[in-house]
Amino acid sequence: MHLKGGLHIHTTCSDGDLTISEVIRIYSQLGYDFIALTDHDYLKRPDCYTVVDQINTDLIVFKGVELTIFEKGYVHVNRITGKDEALHIFNHPSELDMPLEKVIQRISAIADRYPLDAIEVTSKGFRTPEYEIPEIPFHKIATDDSHTRIGCGRAWIEMDCQRDKDSIIRAIKNGDFWNCYTETRGCTVSGSY
Ligand SMILES: [Zn+2]
Repeated sequence: MHLKGGLHIHTTCSDGDLTISEVIRIYSQLGYDFIALTDHDYLKRPDCYTVVDQINTDLIVFKGVELTIFEKGYVHVNRITGKDEALHIFNHPSELDMPLEKVIQRISAIADRYPLDAIEVTSKGFRTPEYEIPEIPFHKIATDDSHTRIGCGRAWIEMDCQRDKDSIIRAIKNGDFWNCYTETRGCTVSGSY
């Protein structure tokens, strides 16, 4: 199946403006097949995502978390779990506000500690192509990192795979997805960087 999804979304469980129900409704209306809720670990109440199971929706909803990791300063890594699979994405390198060489070192230090699968090449849904380079040896992925209604749907991924959590995670790990942007009205092939 052809699927559309967003892997970095905040709700009122941390610093987002939208409730989980609102997020599910908005992304459903935008034609998404799956989303990952990734609220900040240091703000999120442990039971905050249990409400997901009570919401009637066709959307596949991953219960993820945005980890705050100290590595010569703080960096953010999203952990998104399926049934047996887990995905780790290094978030928004442009927001570290440091030279590219240092960003590459920081990513490599994190990869020694966490099983990184991909890095974001977006900041709040806007493309940051300076990180789409072979010197960063991970899949490059586009996300919204949405915190508000206006931030929903700026960037997403599309893929052809089975419609279940583990198949989606495995497709991403294989680099079998496209990054898509409202900004440029199109998608790119992730493996082509
Ligand atoms: Zn975030």
